[in-house]
Amino acid sequence: MNPAEWLARTARHSPQAPALFLGTRLIADYAEFARRAGAIAAALRDRGIGPGDRVAIFLPNSVDYLPLLHGILWAGATAVPVNGKLHPKEAAWIVSHASARLVFAKDPEAMRATGDIGTTPCIAPDSADIAAMLATEPMAAPHPMTRDDAAWLFYTSGTTGRPKGAVLTAGNLIAMSLAYLADVDDVAATDAALYAAPMSHGAGLYNFIHVRRGARHVVPESGGFDPAEILALARDLRNVSMFAAPTMVKRLVAAAKAEGADGDGLRTIVYGGGPMYVADIREALEVLGPRFVQIYGQGEAPMTITALSRADIADVSHPDWLRRLASVGRAHSVAEVRVLDAAGAPLPPGAPGEIAVRGPQVMQGYLDNPEANAKSLVGGWLLTGDIGHLDADGYLKLHDRAKDLVISGGSNIYPREVEEALLDHPAVSEVSVIGTPDPEWGEIVVAFIVCAGPPPGTAELDAVCTGRIARFKKPKRYVFVRELPKNNYGKVLKTSLREMLADR
Ligand code: AMP
Repeated sequence: MNPAEWLARTARHSPQAPALFLGTRLIADYAEFARRAGAIAAALRDRGIGPGDRVAIFLPNSVDYLPLLHGILWAGATAVPVNGKLHPKEAAWIVSHASARLVFAKDPEAMRATGDIGTTPCIAPDSADIAAMLATEPMAAPHPMTRDDAAWLFYTSGTTGRPKGAVLTAGNLIAMSLAYLADVDDVAATDAALYAAPMSHGAGLYNFIHVRRGARHVVPESGGFDPAEILALARDLRNVSMFAAPTMVKRLVAAAKAEGADGDGLRTIVYGGGPMYVADIREALEVLGPRFVQIYGQGEAPMTITALSRADIADVSHPDWLRRLASVGRAHSVAEVRVLDAAGAPLPPGAPGEIAVRGPQVMQGYLDNPEANAKSLVGGWLLTGDIGHLDADGYLKLHDRAKDLVISGGSNIYPREVEEALLDHPAVSEVSVIGTPDPEWGEIVVAFIVCAGPPPGTAELDAVCTGRIARFKKPKRYVFVRELPKNNYGKVLKTSLREMLADR
């Protein structure tokens, strides 16, 4: 089924239901949202664009986003959402790799100036071209799609190397959306999905289930993540749900603490996409209350590998609470999750190995990349490149990306456990741990630390580590930095940290 069918149905059932908001300002009801999507679809069709074609959206979050996204799907074409914060050069690489037939971009001139998009038409959302597209007689119904039709070409955030385009089918998106209802949260028409993280990524993927349920879609006026604005919007709009990377949660908590806010109006904060440290989620719970659900996923299995439920996170009296809080939860209803050894055989509970997932949410494959497909799709399973272990009760503990594992003196050290330990020092506000080559040890552990105040001494940091983890895991070097390099999704760029060390 075409995911845009959900928009058509909601518009038929509840045409006057409020749909698109800029801040607290209503911009369109569901009838108008669907009309815009149908008009974009008709205009694309008139340009000869339809099933099998790809159309890129290189825009920051805006109220124009969802009508364009649904318009592309409505036409039966594949959407290629590109993070609006990328450099035009990076976006142009994606556009050209995807052979997009058309691009919606904020600054078409900048795209053309890259010289990398050839003659691909580029249209700005506030242009006469868009006005003409929106004035086209809408296509009455979304073009039919089957489960296997490509709907969303998801370019991985590329913390190393070039991004790869994961082909997500209509079936993948529907499975992901229904899994949200089963394992993350219920959604009602009275809810509001707030887009504070890039709509080209997780936050945007969650739009479909909110469309299906006729909920509101809110883009903050700032267009991005301003914690004070989010707290105020939640108070005004009520029942607000949002996806947030752990770094965003941390900033939201700090802002709430500073203004004495308790998260009133926030229904659910779904966090994931990077490690959430136990100390941070405990503080978040204390300040904002039981509003959190964690998900673990990747572009290749969008948002849907495991989930740690609101009940698990909030159940402070459970004997396993802290262990569970440190995990990424249990397999999603639609997901089979295994931990494999180097030969690909399943490992028993407790043993760390590569996490593999199978299910209807797993991508069809990477676009035009047989080599990467052969490595990551094996025997019907997606190899995630993440290392972890399953507990006997089914909770998955994520250790690290396989490539971030440090092997020092022959022992495996997972940066995450060293990071968790250092974060227990009150002066440490952020930390990222990497391995660096060393003639004696093979690799040694180096910790990059951001402090709120004066940096603590090495002996103090050593003590906090040896009080919590094995002595051999203790960093051999501490590097104090003002901030950690992060990509546009808030993920720490360990490759940049490695380069920083090499430069020194
Ligand atoms: P992306 O495809 O850009 O969304 O990145 C996916 C990767 O982010 C995963 O393979 C994990 O390494 C990491 N990730 C996703 N969710 C979590 C989570 N809840 N905790 C820790 N890391 C996560």
